[in-house]
Amino acid sequence: MSIRGRIFKACRKCRALVDRETIECPVCGSKEFSDEWEGVVVIIDPERSGLAKLLNIDKPGKYAIKVL
Ligand SMILES: [Zn+2]
Repeated sequence: MSIRGRIFKACRKCRALVDRETIECPVCGSKEFSDEWEGVVVIIDPERSGLAKLLNIDKPGKYAIKVL
């Protein structure tokens, strides 16, 4: 997937990646999104993922590593 493909936008609050048509973040309920983001991490089991803890993610899903 191309980072600059702009298929997804990232939630500014929790960094969840969602479809561009999404109005409200399914993870945290925020309505603020950014088109400028970098890196993708897929969290399957947040309880056991050190990366999830590092990024403060507690729900499974696809997240941007960095939201600009
Ligand atoms: Zn969110």
